[in-house]
Amino acid sequence: MIPMVDLKEQYQTLKAEIEQGFAETFENTSFILGPNVKSFESEVADYLGVKHAISCASGTDALHLALVAAGIGRGDEVITSSFTFIATAEAIRYVGAIPVYVDIHPDTYNLDAGLIEAAMTDKTRAILPVHLFGQPTDMASIMALADKHNLKVIEDCAQSFGADINGKMTGSIGLAGAHSFFPSKNLGCYGDGGMITTNDDAVAEMLLMLRNHGSKERYYHEVVGYNSRLDELQAVILRAKFKRLPQYNQQRRRVAHRYSAGLAGSVVTPPHEDGLGTHVYHQYTVLSDQRDAVMKKLADNQIGSAIYYPVPLHQQKVFADVCKDVSLPVTEEIAGRCLSLPVYPELKDAQIDQIVDVIQSI
Ligand SMILES: *Cc1c(COP(=O)(O)O)cnc(C)c1O
Repeated sequence: MIPMVDLKEQYQTLKAEIEQGFAETFENTSFILGPNVKSFESEVADYLGVKHAISCASGTDALHLALVAAGIGRGDEVITSSFTFIATAEAIRYVGAIPVYVDIHPDTYNLDAGLIEAAMTDKTRAILPVHLFGQPTDMASIMALADKHNLKVIEDCAQSFGADINGKMTGSIGLAGAHSFFPSKNLGCYGDGGMITTNDDAVAEMLLMLRNHGSKERYYHEVVGYNSRLDELQAVILRAKFKRLPQYNQQRRRVAHRYSAGLAGSVVTPPHEDGLGTHVYHQYTVLSDQRDAVMKKLADNQIGSAIYYPVPLHQQKVFADVCKDVSLPVTEEIAGRCLSLPVYPELKDAQIDQIVDVIQSI
């Protein structure tokens, strides 16, 4: 059995460190915004090359709080991708703004920057690109458009922790970056967690209040905030994994490149690296006209596979009213042909070769 993701083997290598951190936390009882949360925030800020890293309760909250702090609100339009996890658009709706979906590039599955300008109206306030599956979006083009039209850029980095564009990390380029520590993400905890990164002092100050009941000083409240803090125990786990993240992402690239070499000439088309940045392969996603047959053959051989994402957001029931007339041909085509294969740092060469052989036999 080869699952889509296996978190158990990695845990064995982290177990002693995590248990020690837990024991210390249980003894010092600093359960909320304790020393591990603070250290983790400064370690992430250093690594991503940003002035501020503010942790919160989930990647969804990170997107939501970033939009609030950026001043995006009722009636504002936010340009984003339809080929992403629902949370990207939910966060836009939480602040009363309207997601405006732009089609993706067929090679990278990321927003097609060349189509963004045509989607702008006098209500457009922000662009929310998603670095999907771990491949950085074309941020140079997006930042140029944002400068030209005076728009805020919030990066959805939930799948791209550690990916860079010419040495600039995703999450350090737009006004803010939203990160998720959901267990299966490239940097995942053992529960929910998230982080917002920014170089903007005012945005950071607002975020610090928003995540903690609108208060800078205890029992003095300046804005209506939320209870959205990263748990101290999750921070212990994240610090242990964070030390090893460059190695984990390297291993994901090894897995991907072995797949791509082996799958040449098969019924699936390997993913394309556009070379603008470093792909950290949160997912290894192929295209195939014979998706059902591939999935069945893999399942028959005890190998996991999954469709990310079968229904693009503009075709989801929840957006049926606002997306009646939206048509995104590339997004719809890719959603009908995409298939993700198992990828995690511990996946062995022999397992990759087995998966390749199964697909090559079709
Ligand atoms: C996982 C994910 C999120 C949400 O993160 P959570 O931590 O699960 O709330 C947002 N956007 C994308 C693209 C994601 O993959």
